[in-house]
Amino acid sequence: MRAMRLRCPWCASRLTFLRGWFRRHERCRTCGLRWHREVGFELGAVTMNTVVTFGALTLLMAIGFVATAPDIPVLPFVLGLAVAAVLVPIAMYPFTYTMWLAFDLAVHPPEQAELDAARSAVVH
Ligand SMILES: [Zn+2]
Repeated sequence: MRAMRLRCPWCASRLTFLRGWFRRHERCRTCGLRWHREVGFELGAVTMNTVVTFGALTLLMAIGFVATAPDIPVLPFVLGLAVAAVLVPIAMYPFTYTMWLAFDLAVHPPEQAELDAARSAVVH
């Protein structure tokens, strides 16, 4: 739930690793936890974005079919879905990073060494 509100999944702070909509700091600015926990971590966020986008397109398609059947306006339908296919990943971009980090933390909780490194990164 924290991740879905763009908060750090670990410390719940709003002052997290996100830096604008498309960029990220190396660590959460509050707890110091690194979002890039392992090589290829971004692939998880990309996968999450793809799953969310295809889910949204499937839902929009189903709603469109049900609402307009049997006379489905194909061209507006396809154009609308194409616009959604571009806008949904952009809208979901930072959420997929926080959500993937939340999933990763749940599956692979940080060890003491990672927490110590996080703590020392924010203590000045
Ligand atoms: Zn944090």
